[in-house]
Amino acid sequence: MKRPTNIAILGSTGSIGRSSLEVIEAMPDRFRVTCLTAHRNTEILAEQVHRFKPRVVVVTDPARAGDLRALADGTTEVLCGDTALLDVVARPDVDIVISALVGFAGLHPTLRAIEAGKDIALANKETLVVGGELVMAKVREHKVRLLPVDSEHSAILQCLQGEDIHSVNRLILTASGGPFLNTSHAEMAGITPARALKHPTWTMGAKITIDSATLMNKGLEVIEAQWLFGLPAERIEVIVHPQSIIHSMVEFVDGSVKAQLGIPDMKLPIQYALTYPERPPSGFKRVDFAALGRLTFQDPDTERFPCLALAFRAMRDGGSAPAVMNAANEAAVALFLDGKIGFTAIPELIAAAMDALPPSGAVTLDLIDRADRDARAFVAQAAAVLTH
Ligand code: NDP
Ligand code: MG
Repeated sequence: MKRPTNIAILGSTGSIGRSSLEVIEAMPDRFRVTCLTAHRNTEILAEQVHRFKPRVVVVTDPARAGDLRALADGTTEVLCGDTALLDVVARPDVDIVISALVGFAGLHPTLRAIEAGKDIALANKETLVVGGELVMAKVREHKVRLLPVDSEHSAILQCLQGEDIHSVNRLILTASGGPFLNTSHAEMAGITPARALKHPTWTMGAKITIDSATLMNKGLEVIEAQWLFGLPAERIEVIVHPQSIIHSMVEFVDGSVKAQLGIPDMKLPIQYALTYPERPPSGFKRVDFAALGRLTFQDPDTERFPCLALAFRAMRDGGSAPAVMNAANEAAVALFLDGKIGFTAIPELIAAAMDALPPSGAVTLDLIDRADRDARAFVAQAAAVLTH
């Protein structure tokens, strides 16, 4: 019998990380967890250590160094700090890395894992948004597999099975529309973090939940799709589908459209990324079409949700533009969650950062790092002016 595949989960205490562990736990003959990481949630990490007995765990927030001793459990080694992430992903006892950190923090460890020849199950879409060109070049150079965990991209991958990419006319990404789909322009400014954190169809980490409320999440996903499937922006469209049952669609040159459907639960795309191209049976909930009654669709409104248009602009501008947009978004979302700025200031700050930091030259890792730092500094300064 084949030995179990060894898995490292970057961000095991997060929403995707915990769903990944549920998927893995249901297939003990097939998968073994060798590495888990958390930023500051050492309580959940301690439970995971006890349950999965990984060989190594990493806590990245140095402020939590005091909790480390409590984590050591028998044979589990405990490491601390960002650089430890770069070491653990390259270990010989890791076959697949589930990249499930949130935000820009995912880029460097994911690149390191690719360079070390590991297959990647990618949830951290920001990695492709800021560094798509570099990341995909490394994937080809090191001949690793990078498979999407994001449900829309998993849907597209499933629709493309057995198809020639040249026969694709367009990719149609579905968006739930988030909690403010029917909120008027006038009401948008008064949206509180508590309201924005209530997503109608998905339960996720705080940052992506706000991104879903502004539609920036869909913007990030369009850029992610561009790199994953190698298609230009003009061939990628977004349609709002509030029920989140169709996870995305592919239209072919003959006019035929394929869609992938399922109930909204990330365990399915996680399992698909881990077992691709196989489809092992699962106990996940099934779609009850009669109970659903109908599926509806509408165009996204980029007047009320300017973030989607900003992402298309970043994609057209290329170079450092997506990295600037991404960093400005991360900084603005953090300020919104802290109650420092209003909901409509998020796209305003991103647009201002993109105007102030025009896209520059050939994309190198240094350029991306610099764009990230500059955009965060710009937003901090611009927000200070807004709040005084
Ligand atoms: P969460 O916020 O729930 O989890 C994030 C994980 O990353 C946690 O383990 C957290 O640790 C860790 N982390 C946070 N900041 C840092 C940092 N600076 N350095 C190292 N580790 C850090 O996020 P999600 O699971 O919701 O999302 C993860 C990624 O997957 C995002 O890129 C998101 O866009 C993408 N995604 C998520 C989906 C979902 O359904 N949740 C769907 C599709 C994509 P700690 O818990 O200790 O703070
Ligand atoms: Mg998604």
